[in-house]
Amino acid sequence: MQYYSLGKQSPNVDFKTAAITGQAPDKGLYFPTTIPQFTAAQIERFKTLDKASLAFEVMKPYVGGAIDDASLQQICAETINFDFPLVPITETIASLELFHGPTLAFKDVGARFMSRCLGYFSKQTRAENASTENVHSTAAKPSTVLVATSGDTGGAVANGFLGVDGVQVIILYPKGKVSPIQELQLTTCGQNITALEVDGSFDDCQAIVKDAFMDTDLNAAYNLTSANSINVARWLPQQLYYFFAWQQWIQKYGDDTPMHIVVPSGNFGNICAGMMAKASGLPLGHFVAACNANNVVTRYLHSGNYEIHKAVATVSNAMDVGNPSNFVRIMEIMQNNFEQLKNSLSSYSYDDTTTESTIHRVYKTNNYILDPHGAVAFLAAEEFNKPAIILETAHPVKFPEVVERAIGETIAIPASVQFLLDKEKVAIPMGASFGVFKSWMLNKAIA
Ligand SMILES: *Cc1c(COP(=O)(O)O)cnc(C)c1O
Repeated sequence: MQYYSLGKQSPNVDFKTAAITGQAPDKGLYFPTTIPQFTAAQIERFKTLDKASLAFEVMKPYVGGAIDDASLQQICAETINFDFPLVPITETIASLELFHGPTLAFKDVGARFMSRCLGYFSKQTRAENASTENVHSTAAKPSTVLVATSGDTGGAVANGFLGVDGVQVIILYPKGKVSPIQELQLTTCGQNITALEVDGSFDDCQAIVKDAFMDTDLNAAYNLTSANSINVARWLPQQLYYFFAWQQWIQKYGDDTPMHIVVPSGNFGNICAGMMAKASGLPLGHFVAACNANNVVTRYLHSGNYEIHKAVATVSNAMDVGNPSNFVRIMEIMQNNFEQLKNSLSSYSYDDTTTESTIHRVYKTNNYILDPHGAVAFLAAEEFNKPAIILETAHPVKFPEVVERAIGETIAIPASVQFLLDKEKVAIPMGASFGVFKSWMLNKAIA
């Protein structure tokens, strides 16, 4: 399997290079040269396959031999070793709970898969260097993962990469714009994880990371890798949720009822992965992108004009993205055809007041606690008005201020994150400019 750059100005690469470099030299996102096609017989078998085997079979064509089968099997099994239950909320809306991983958000799957792939490649490189005894010459620089987060990515990446040999992780997060538990998840790891508290927005953090990948000096000093959903190793395994959801859906409703899917979307990596799964033969229904006030795609689908805006802060902060990186990949799947896009994807957008009252309403009516992202998705599912699943992308406890205000009760902190409360935040304050970041990185290299 080869990957080409959507910028069309860089050579094709294999999975290993795409995962290690993150972005192509021309700033384009990598995309597989062919979308693997699962046969009807494979799809039939997928209906009852165990999660780990299914994950292996789905990921194998994308990895394309860059990782040996036994290792890939192990990576897949470790990636998905928690539950992905489909829980009914109303008669027509079910919640695919993607928050049962270690950091209580769906990003655990992508982060766990990617970290293990990079760990594998790093070990491979060290073994090659050892065998050629070139330790004194150009011994490979360790990988440095740079990641911008609006909250959930940072925690998932920190957790996924913690202790992975040969990989350093630097996380940039917007000061005061992530929830207390999120902040603890990304600032208390230590070891190979460093958190930078940036005095700016998520878009500022993302812009710094994008500039860093283009910077000659930084690339000379470091082997930089991105862990945002632009990285294929983080983006592609997100397809797995859709396979797991579909297995549960057909058990319940049979395979004649289409499974429509509502995805709370920010950078559009998650929904794009679902659309890939469908393009590879998984029989999924219509896709609905649920957005907050950052609704460039919602407006595009209505007007045909793609107008990016600066991100505005909302209560569903993981979707506060003004210029969604992965939308170009969706357009590629849709062969850059606007009509085809409109037939496959709808989008609705909601303000914070409506989101909060929905958390309240669904709790009172259905006894289900939505997180703010899930609430935006729930609203979109109601507006779409056909039986659908919503992706519940984070546990409500990650947004306690909003959720507790909406339901009028405190939410219990799950035992799995209780230990964080005793830990001390360690973060380096940083101005929201690439120049400041660059000199910090270069001084750090010298130090
Ligand atoms: C990251 C995130 C999203 C948005 O996912 P994208 O792939 O960026 O569209 C939605 N909800 C939560 C809780 C998230 O962490």
